[in-house]
Amino acid sequence: MSRTFEQPNLLSHWFNQMYGEQPIPMRAQLQGDVDADVCIVGAGYTGLWTAYYLLKESPDIKIAIVEAKISGYGASGRNGGALIAQFNGSREYWLKRTDRAGLLAFERAVHQSVDDVGQAVKESGIDCSYSKNGVVMVARNELELTRFQDSVDEDRDYNIGEDFSRMLTREEVLSRINIDGAIGARLNLSCASINPGKLARGLADAVERLGATIYEGSPVTKILSGAAITEIGRVKAKFIVRATEAYTESFQTNKVVPVHTSMLVTEQIPEKIWNKIGWSGQEALLAEHPFLHLQHTPDHRITIGGDDNRIPYLYGSKPSPDGPALKKVADMHQRELVRLFPVLQNIKIESSWQGIFGATRHWAPSTILDEKTGLITAGGYVGEGLAFSNLTGQTTADLIWGHSTPLTKLPFVGNHQRNWEPEPFRYLGAVGISWMRHVGERNERRTGKHSLLFDWGNRIAGFTGNVG
Ligand SMILES: Cc1cc2nc3c(=O)[nH]c(=O)nc-3n(C[C@H](O)[C@H](O)[C@H](O)COP(=O)(O)OP(=O)(O)OC[C@H]3O[C@@H](n4cnc5c(N)ncnc54)[C@H](O)[C@@H]3O)c2cc1C
Repeated sequence: MSRTFEQPNLLSHWFNQMYGEQPIPMRAQLQGDVDADVCIVGAGYTGLWTAYYLLKESPDIKIAIVEAKISGYGASGRNGGALIAQFNGSREYWLKRTDRAGLLAFERAVHQSVDDVGQAVKESGIDCSYSKNGVVMVARNELELTRFQDSVDEDRDYNIGEDFSRMLTREEVLSRINIDGAIGARLNLSCASINPGKLARGLADAVERLGATIYEGSPVTKILSGAAITEIGRVKAKFIVRATEAYTESFQTNKVVPVHTSMLVTEQIPEKIWNKIGWSGQEALLAEHPFLHLQHTPDHRITIGGDDNRIPYLYGSKPSPDGPALKKVADMHQRELVRLFPVLQNIKIESSWQGIFGATRHWAPSTILDEKTGLITAGGYVGEGLAFSNLTGQTTADLIWGHSTPLTKLPFVGNHQRNWEPEPFRYLGAVGISWMRHVGERNERRTGKHSLLFDWGNRIAGFTGNVG
């Protein structure tokens, strides 16, 4: 009997738009023993891009993708859709793993992956509204403006030119997007906006068409050298790719922790209000204090998510439930939305949802092949996985083929990280660090001055920032 995934509308606005309350027919479950060349655990972007690039190189390779729920169930089907050439770990962090030329090659590869996604969705006929409109990172106080200016100056030191990043004056920002309190912005041109749910579901269909088999409703309980095991079946393969990101803790402890986040989507906003906001370029939009990411969707809504007002971690690394954001989180995001755009005062929030992204102990991504066992672990993007998961997929495919390419020399390859602290220390750490970050960030917002408390919170967490 064919099985269905009930209530896809609870996963995200994107799933709700695609399926509403209609249960989704699931692909077959993994049963018995199956042989493959490569087994991929997890059908999010990481797993699917890896399969895509393997199959593009050789359509004969036998790939089995084993997914606990449905393709796109995780962060890939729930995110904000900003395909931004940005990744975690500061330049200082990465320079401990490579030299300046290596870092520059790394940054260029991430920029390229934004275009590579565009190319792949075009070739595969994935209708996910890919549109490379750039991202505006708005500054609303002098502190933010100085930080953005410093980051653009640093780009120039690295020979990264105006074709990637530049500053916008207050007038330039307002002529694009009428953001209350904007005093300037950093503009990154290497960013596309997409419908993330359609990308995840479309990519699953595309890799299936290319020849992969996807098993759904098949939680892997153990990964061994040469096999991924579920309760009623196993895939035997030379290479096993763990692409389970924030959900990894269910079968492999202390490697990746889930960080909780939520998003809201407005009702469709009438044209007369858009006339006041502008934003006709539909750039992705980021704001600070608190950190927020927003999208002007092709059907003229706004999505908003980012840092919220709770400890973003549950004891024992529990994932978030499927369903709406907590009320206090939703209320906060709605307040922040109206703070950015006071004309949205009476606009309704149509729905909200929760999700988790994955953080490794260094808060930096990696793909690691253990040559002896054939096990590969890939991910750790924190909240910046749309572009990077594509780069990871391309690189992981090269590693599996045994090719030595410019990608396999990038510093995230083999970037081993230490384990997270066990409970209860992990939870206690999360409480303390969240408090320091919340208070520090509130102080920065109030005083417009740099907060040492915020820095210390990040330092204790091991978070070094990001590049791009
Ligand atoms: C709300 C939200 C907003 C975000 N916004 C952005 C953004 O705007 N831009 C950006 O760059 N990034 C964003 N991110 C991060 C980005 O979505 C992720 O980095 C990216 O989707 C990770 O892809 P993935 O395939 O590695 O993981 P996932 O998409 O989480 O996929 C992992 C898959 O593994 C499956 N799985 C788990 N355990 C098992 C098991 N035991 N057996 C089999 N399968 C298993 C899961 O069901 C899931 O389908 C956001 C994340 C969230 C949650």
